Amino acid sequence: MRKHVGVLLVVLLGAAFLLGQKQVAPKADAAKIREHVKYLSSDLLEGRGTGQKGGDDAADYIAGQFKSYGLKPAGENGTYFQDVPMVGIKTQPETTFNFVPKDGQSVALKLFDDFVTSNGTQVPSVDIDAPIVFVGYGITAPEYQWDDYKGYDLKGKVALLFVNEPISEDPKFFKGKALTYYGRWTYKFEETARRGAVATLIIHRTDLASYGWEVVRNSWGGEASRLKLDGTPKLEAASWIQLDVAKKLAAMGGQDLDKLFQQAQSREFRPIELPVRLKAHVVSSVRPFSSRNVLAMAEGSDAKGRNAEAVLYTAHYDHFGIDKSKPGGNNIYHGAIDNGTGCGILLEMARLWAGSKPAPPRSILFAAVTAEEQGLLGSEYLGKHAAALPVRPILDLNYDALAPLGIPEEVEVSGAERTTFYPAVEKIAKEFGLAIKPDAHQEAGHYYRSDHFSLSRVGIPSFSISEGLKFKGHDLAWGDAQAKDYVDNRYHKPADMFREDWDFAGLAKMVEFGYALGGAAAVAPEPVRWLPGDEFEKAGGK
Ligand SMILES: [Zn+2]
Repeated sequence: MRKHVGVLLVVLLGAAFLLGQKQVAPKADAAKIREHVKYLSSDLLEGRGTGQKGGDDAADYIAGQFKSYGLKPAGENGTYFQDVPMVGIKTQPETTFNFVPKDGQSVALKLFDDFVTSNGTQVPSVDIDAPIVFVGYGITAPEYQWDDYKGYDLKGKVALLFVNEPISEDPKFFKGKALTYYGRWTYKFEETARRGAVATLIIHRTDLASYGWEVVRNSWGGEASRLKLDGTPKLEAASWIQLDVAKKLAAMGGQDLDKLFQQAQSREFRPIELPVRLKAHVVSSVRPFSSRNVLAMAEGSDAKGRNAEAVLYTAHYDHFGIDKSKPGGNNIYHGAIDNGTGCGILLEMARLWAGSKPAPPRSILFAAVTAEEQGLLGSEYLGKHAAALPVRPILDLNYDALAPLGIPEEVEVSGAERTTFYPAVEKIAKEFGLAIKPDAHQEAGHYYRSDHFSLSRVGIPSFSISEGLKFKGHDLAWGDAQAKDYVDNRYHKPADMFREDWDFAGLAKMVEFGYALGGAAAVAPEPVRWLPGDEFEKAGGK
């Protein structure tokens, strides 16, 4: 009986909170968002590079804002900061790869033309001499009854595999056309390393990767940042090889690459050991440094337990910094949209929640994360250390690169439909006059390319909030043209700069929408969960 009274009370309080919310739903201030974006993308902050002064200055600015709103520090040792230990790694030109067949001539590969590689074990020099095994797609996915390994022991071997996942139109099998995490190259390196491989060679096929060899070559040429080793298994040579090189390798092993690809489509596939060894010498420069996530919170009002849980808002503050190899004047990657806008939204969200009285039962946590552009590293660290946070996140709402183009009439919340929270999202979107826009390019796997994914993979229901393409006073074609112009001319270029003619009213609306979502999750009796059977449902169990 008492229990029922308690439940009733909670429901009433929840309803009262919601009603109270409705009456005093705070207004986001577009001018404040504009100010943050303008400052963070100015030359002063030097493109907010990870491991560079500008990135550190951005973190200090965000912490200062959090403090000025009266939010509590939620970082380490009573500060707003969580230290993220990292290393910068660059593969050196002395690095060599040779394919050595059991009989016949060995073949030497050319770095960057034929292969790219990175030593994940973070040591300056390593030698590899190990047999090469074709493992199909290299996937183990019990929920699709798929296992490319069939008990095969990869320990001490070199895995050769295709990027992407088995071809499917069936939504129940690897989500049909949509790319699941199993298809991403990051998964391939992680899974083979878990299985004890020393090296992995991903076969680059432009159609499967959805980008050309030039993209691989460019993005693997410079110094890459990684989280400092933390016990997660790593490969000594995480590599891509060019398609023609893979064909040659298959032929050296008495196989035909196209036939291997066909065999990889079958559930019955078994690993095929090639009579060819990889002899490699991998030389790397290794530079330790540290970066910071910025964390703050507003404490929940439910002293009986729900205040130990939190709705988390995230946005990455880093961008590419200064490229010193380019001439001055045009070498700062300003990152105004990517992700000055997300930071502006996060800060305005934090200001609203700091002033919200009464506080909702659950706490509200804010994290401006570092090193997203280096491979979601700051959020990965945050997710891996979620247990050390003062409150336990039950939902992450992420903001990454929203265009200040006026009032949106659509919203993208891809991933929300995979959680128990979706009915609330649908209801609130409707109240805001926002049509939910489905992911137009599921095969590109966008869900796995922003910070919310780092939280998903440790079991926390997470998604990004973004505008669609339809803006008030414009047709879809206009929005489409704006998006295309951004991708073609400014995305990840110095030209991603602040513009005085931008209209921030839409970003204020995105704050209010996210505030309403967070409010609903913060008062709900039960935490948000992944739907049964989702690929992340059991991820939080460990
Ligand atoms: Zn970016």
